[in-house]
Amino acid sequence: EVKRRGSNGLQWFSPVFDEGAQLQIQRRSQLQEAIAQQQFELFYQPIVSAQGAIHGVEALIRWKHPEQGFISPAEFIPLAEKTGQIIAISEWVLNQACMDSQTLREAGVPHVAVNFSPMQFYRDDFVESVERIIKPYNLRPGQLVAEITENVLMRDSSHIFEILQQLRELGLEIALDDFGTGYASLSYLTRIPAQRLKIDRSFIDNIHQNTANAAITRGILTMAAELGIATVAEGVETEAELAYLQRYACDYMQGFLFCKPLPLPELLAWLNHK
Ligand code: C2E
Ligand code: MG
Ligand code: MG
Ligand code: MG
Repeated sequence: EVKRRGSNGLQWFSPVFDEGAQLQIQRRSQLQEAIAQQQFELFYQPIVSAQGAIHGVEALIRWKHPEQGFISPAEFIPLAEKTGQIIAISEWVLNQACMDSQTLREAGVPHVAVNFSPMQFYRDDFVESVERIIKPYNLRPGQLVAEITENVLMRDSSHIFEILQQLRELGLEIALDDFGTGYASLSYLTRIPAQRLKIDRSFIDNIHQNTANAAITRGILTMAAELGIATVAEGVETEAELAYLQRYACDYMQGFLFCKPLPLPELLAWLNHK
């Protein structure tokens, strides 16, 4: 048996049998099976206006493992990005989100936001594959929102701006996800064709009491307003956080205070009872 921790509290790895690596190999082949058998499900979390009206939803993937139940994307997306399996997973996500977006629109939800991986942007056929997937659905402009993180902008940014422009031409809107946590320089904001900026939930946490978080968030809200970019606060969990964000004119909110991510039928029920 392999001990995970030594008495000094440090992780102990055997050079012969590395449990971590072994687990990764196992996960990777399980993930391959998951892709082949489509063991994924999209959950949807509402994005609401400061007044509480439904504005859109974010699609969040879950891996429905036959024995282990739902596995969080935080656990398998980083691995899928390492192995390249993220490409097949992303195509499944985009197609499923398009498929559901018609139902959602009929239920009064104007847009569906999908998380894009930086890995997708480095493939030559990325824009074509997006076009091929969304074409049959005849979406309205703005019905699909591409969420990207600042990390997408780290490599060869002029090439990335061109790709984002092509996504815009396909009718997608662009949202900057987890804003404030990446390493990209702020100067890209003057050139990027982004319509939305999602303030990372670490800055929203306890915003009414944490003066540093409050200062950063107010700064982001002012900057976005002057650049004409709509703002979304992520991870709103309390009434006090909501009140603070309303006071400083954040446009949209998302978080457990309103609703956690739900399977589509449960989300539709939530919309009905709202
Ligand atoms: P994200 O895009 O920033 O998504 C928001 C995450 O915050 C979600 O976690 C959501 O469940 C969680 N969240 C929402 N409201 C609250 C709140 O009030 N409090 C707290 N503590 N958390 C809240 P989730 O679903 O586990 O997803 C984690 C990350 O995995 C996402 O972060 C995104 O980066 C990635 N991800 C999820 N689905 C996909 C996908 O389809 N494709 C790709 N490439 N990445 C995905
Ligand atoms: Mg997101
Ligand atoms: Mg985020
Ligand atoms: Mg995140």
